[in-house]
Amino acid sequence: MSIPQPPKDDFRNHIATVDEAGKRLWVFPKQPEGRFYQRRTLLSYLLLAILFGLPWIRVGGEPVFLFNVLERRFILFGLHFTPQDFHLFALLMVTAMVFIVLFTVVFGRLFCGWVCPQTTFMEMVFRKIEYWIEGDANAQKRLAKAPWTPDKVRKKALKHGLFLLVSALIAHTFLAYIIGTDGLLEIVQQSPLEAPGGFLAIVAFIGIFYAVFSYMREQVCIAVCPYGRLQGVLLDDDSVNVIYDYERGEPRGKIDRGQPKRTSCTSCASCRENNSACTDRILQRMEDNLTGIAPPPPKGDCIDCGLCVQVCPTGIDIRNGIQMECINCTACIDACDAVMDKVDRPRGLIRYDSERGVREGKRRIWTPRAMAYSALLLALVALNVWLLSSRDGVDVILLRAPGSLYHTEADTAVSNLYTYQVVNKTGLELPLTFVADGGRAEVRTVGGTPAVPPGEIVEGALFLVVPADGNGYPDEIVVSVRSGGEELKRITTSFLHPSN
Ligand code: SF4
Ligand code: SF4
Repeated sequence: MSIPQPPKDDFRNHIATVDEAGKRLWVFPKQPEGRFYQRRTLLSYLLLAILFGLPWIRVGGEPVFLFNVLERRFILFGLHFTPQDFHLFALLMVTAMVFIVLFTVVFGRLFCGWVCPQTTFMEMVFRKIEYWIEGDANAQKRLAKAPWTPDKVRKKALKHGLFLLVSALIAHTFLAYIIGTDGLLEIVQQSPLEAPGGFLAIVAFIGIFYAVFSYMREQVCIAVCPYGRLQGVLLDDDSVNVIYDYERGEPRGKIDRGQPKRTSCTSCASCRENNSACTDRILQRMEDNLTGIAPPPPKGDCIDCGLCVQVCPTGIDIRNGIQMECINCTACIDACDAVMDKVDRPRGLIRYDSERGVREGKRRIWTPRAMAYSALLLALVALNVWLLSSRDGVDVILLRAPGSLYHTEADTAVSNLYTYQVVNKTGLELPLTFVADGGRAEVRTVGGTPAVPPGEIVEGALFLVVPADGNGYPDEIVVSVRSGGEELKRITTSFLHPSN
């Protein structure tokens, strides 16, 4: 019996959505049906509710998430980050990257198929609108080729109108994550002439999202997404992916009811003892062998129906093996399971498995590589937890004004001028008072007592004044920074005077 071989890999020389002349081949995927599609649909509803709802959720009057790159204000899970926290933010990003790498090494592109916003919007929102208006794949192909009749104009206008509407919804939400819902409402309630910057930003985002979901589509995953590009170096033989079982499926071929089943001989020997046919169709091959007629190679379980290719939103044939274009959307699993049910063969010809799982029937999750990444991830998480928990809610910098010396005030006191910067990383406004510790020095803030809004930085100046009472002058003064009676910081600063 010939050993099933993986299919030839000439497909690696070109992508499925571009023809030899370099022209885009539009993908018309058949609408998937099945258990995985149902689960993905339910999950997508939950994810969409979170994505659209999150900017409106407030804790203590503050958004849970804010990525205001314009004003350099960042809020993650209610924690305020300022530009001074850049190292923390960078470490969090590195930790997230290691998590993604570890997750991909073990579970392949599970994220792409189930959680990625691009896939969620494309397959669960825009594609569903398309199926609803234009019908399934064949109807869409016919419509694309049909001349421009009133019916076609109506369908296309309705589809693209809804696409624009959803793109506008996404654009507004995207902006809400950047400038907050208050800033967004302000822009929306003003005329474009009053807030031209905000208006243009919204229009630009709508245009980008509309172009991505109505035109670029799978090309974003194939050619733009950096995560997709990383698959080649992240996946190994043990990574779990949507995979075609070529050992079981090959050689593929149209179903032949008379073909021998690909089951093994159970060595019951009844055929020899009775010199007659056994009840199992394996006998066909035994008889052929006995009579010297070479049996046809038994076919695999793939009946070459092509449904797994027809449902694929990136236009690939999963039977060619793991490919970078595959976003693990599971549509081919559902399609093939339905076929297997019909031809009375076990499900799972296409399934979640690793290359080694298919080849050797062994699955390994905790490979040395996965363990190494896990150890690194644990160390990073621990470092993040420690840095975040030991992080102060307020940062204060108090420095003597550059180039300044002491100032003698009519022989009654000596003063030094200082500048301060206070960073408020809490979600509360902090009215500040500066108190010189030790009792002798007095603090005079320039321009009154400052109050620092949440997530903001306030800068100002103050004088430290020590009376000339004959008791000398301190070389250092401890300044206590307080808010509402609570001491936030103690800073020791140098003091210049005539004696030093
Ligand atoms: S859906 Fe299954 S049986 Fe049909 S071609 Fe694909 S792998 Fe083969
Ligand atoms: S081969 Fe296509 S249909 Fe199958 S999981 Fe990958 S992207 Fe989805």
